Amino acid sequence: MRFRPREAFSPSPGYQLLPMRFRRLPWDPEKAFVSSMAGDWLLMGMEDLQRFVSHELPAHSPLLADLQARHLAVAETSRSSFAPLLSQYRSRKSYLVGGPALHIFVVSLRCHHTCSYCQVSRQQTTATEFDMAGTHARQAVERLFEWPSQELTIEFQGGEPLLNFEQVKAITTLIVERNRSAKRSLRFVLASTLHDLTEAQLDFLEEHRFKLSTSLDGPEWLHNANRPRPGRDSYARTIQGIDLGRRRLGEDAVSALTTLTKRSLEVPEAIIDEYRKLGLHSISLRPLSPYGFATKSAPRTGYTTEDYLVFYKRAFEHLMAVNRGGYPMDETYASLLLSQLLSPFGHGYVDLRSPSGAGLGAIIYDYDGRVYPSDEARMLAAMGDRSFCLGDVSQPVSTWLSSPAMTTLLDAGVTEALPTCSDCAYVPLCGADPIEHYARQGDPMGHRPSSDFCKRNMGLLDFLLERYEKADRDTKRLMEAWATPKGEMEEAQDAAA
Ligand code: SF4
Repeated sequence: MRFRPREAFSPSPGYQLLPMRFRRLPWDPEKAFVSSMAGDWLLMGMEDLQRFVSHELPAHSPLLADLQARHLAVAETSRSSFAPLLSQYRSRKSYLVGGPALHIFVVSLRCHHTCSYCQVSRQQTTATEFDMAGTHARQAVERLFEWPSQELTIEFQGGEPLLNFEQVKAITTLIVERNRSAKRSLRFVLASTLHDLTEAQLDFLEEHRFKLSTSLDGPEWLHNANRPRPGRDSYARTIQGIDLGRRRLGEDAVSALTTLTKRSLEVPEAIIDEYRKLGLHSISLRPLSPYGFATKSAPRTGYTTEDYLVFYKRAFEHLMAVNRGGYPMDETYASLLLSQLLSPFGHGYVDLRSPSGAGLGAIIYDYDGRVYPSDEARMLAAMGDRSFCLGDVSQPVSTWLSSPAMTTLLDAGVTEALPTCSDCAYVPLCGADPIEHYARQGDPMGHRPSSDFCKRNMGLLDFLLERYEKADRDTKRLMEAWATPKGEMEEAQDAAA
């Protein structure tokens, strides 16, 4: 529920209310989560909340001081100002300054695998017509430097980008040359199975300080079942690739992502233990997306959001036990939500931005020269729906920004203005994700009460909040460390062990 602005600013002796929203706690309906428009929050009793909004709190009550510190009220003195609230709001939305930082080049759709849940339209390894051509690559690099972002992450994806490694080299070399005058800060990432990685490729990756991101779904039986390829040796090849990459690029240069199928939901502990066995300190437990081949195989590999949340809570408890046992490991989505809850800063995660991060936080240059605001928009196009295609690499960035696709994204991309979200106490911490809502519900604004995106985020925020509030001191410290950079996480873990 949200208090209307007219009430929120109505004058009253002692203090003024600032815009706020509240949500009764599902685990304790006598209490509420109360949030400011900039995402500061506190838990308070419903009776106190009633007294607060009725202007009945005494001027010197500690609760009122707390509410003022969290930008939920302002004292009615001549020195009062909204500046602290607005400054906090600017920090939260700092990701809007600078333009898209993530630029994904899809250099080929070819792939060795035939994963049932594949989210792109993979092609046979011999189908070279699905490789990015040199003209498209050169035009895409020109466009890249039209954006104002000082920090650019350039990620190569596929299909399998190693199958068109010559284009990875050509694009990287061109970007480095162009950057001699542009002077941006560059970071290169290769998202690959790492199968068939050669020493010559590693020479190049090492020279340009690439980071490697690979897919690992869990123990050998699960990974191979999820990711069929000729020889049924996907797991062994991935492990070999991780070893090679680490040896040449450094221990921290390789990260892994897991995709969760129905089978995976039964074994959260085994998946986490596999990551631990391989010395990985971060795991991403992301649910399947409603795109690409995943939709066709949904009855076999798919699951409900409720099933996912049950799995997630079990995985979270195991991760806490692993951390308490002396091995630091975080889960990336929990870290992101906790950083939203426990820190005042904005983040770079595209799906949880408002306005939407699609097109404002990331840009995808597809193999055929078309340009998309997110990987999900590209997947939709691969399924025959180009509603979110921004244009192509022969056009200037200004043409993409004035495209009908961008207008739709901006119309449906401000979470605070969406029906249901506008009244939700979690809105300062959540996002719009118009493309997922279009893919699942046929409408970029979406219907939040029946939206999986909403169910997942509300479920996870409720869970993390309850877990944090009821946690012992050491667990609290671990959760706070997840919300902060890695070094601090290891210190907190040492303290908890
Ligand atoms: S998507 Fe759901 S949880 Fe997120 S702000 Fe909207 S209503 Fe709240």
